[in-house]
Amino acid sequence: MSLPPERLERFARHIVLPEIGGAGQVALAGKHLVLVGLGGIGSPALQYLAAAGIGKLTLVDDDKVDVSNLQRQTLYNMRDIGHGKAVLAKRWVSTFDPGLQVGISDRRITVENAPDLVIGADLVLDGTDNFSTRLAISDACVAERVPLLSAAVGRFQGQVGAFAGHLPGQSCYRCFVGDAFDAEDCDTCADDGMLGAMAGWVATFAAMQAVRILLAGAGNMGEIEWGKVHLLDGAAPAMRSFMIAKDPACKACGSAA
Ligand SMILES: [Zn+2]
Repeated sequence: MSLPPERLERFARHIVLPEIGGAGQVALAGKHLVLVGLGGIGSPALQYLAAAGIGKLTLVDDDKVDVSNLQRQTLYNMRDIGHGKAVLAKRWVSTFDPGLQVGISDRRITVENAPDLVIGADLVLDGTDNFSTRLAISDACVAERVPLLSAAVGRFQGQVGAFAGHLPGQSCYRCFVGDAFDAEDCDTCADDGMLGAMAGWVATFAAMQAVRILLAGAGNMGEIEWGKVHLLDGAAPAMRSFMIAKDPACKACGSAA
């Protein structure tokens, strides 16, 4: 399989990289990424992921644009205020690259509907802003055997972790944060504040990791380290990383599950 000439030109700067090449670009065109949360992380991430030519995107958000979102949610403008983010994001992709396939969901994510959203995807990128939703997405990914890239940001701190809890010996997001956050809580940026560019740093780092994961087997961008979490500190600025071990008692991916 190869790309038509206009696609080769569009992705020329990717294709010239030996780590991606034509084969890597073709692989990206055949991938399905589910992006959950089209806010401070999902909005810049989508711009880079669509630009990378990931062939099929499912965009999930039940929120509407508020004027206070514009400080960091780069997809939207003044005309979008009051309109649903999922529809707007789909419209943005359609204009940006009509060659991509886009599906949307504007339902609120629950434990019940999360599996239907992630099933069959090559990767889920979670940029939502509360623990109960993140855990519902993580549990669905483990159950449906889909890798999860989990990204979060607040104030000047961000984290991006890659999880494949469905694989033997690999941890999941629940192994990382535990069970304490299953109930709805109010861990959102509305309470804490956030530097807009910080959300962009976390988002583009997550987009880069997503491309690396989706290229596995086709490109040559190094091994994916499942269970590795990167902490991004915008105040220093600095970055560090650590591994999350599988929790044998994890109720999503442990032996009890
Ligand atoms: Zn787990």
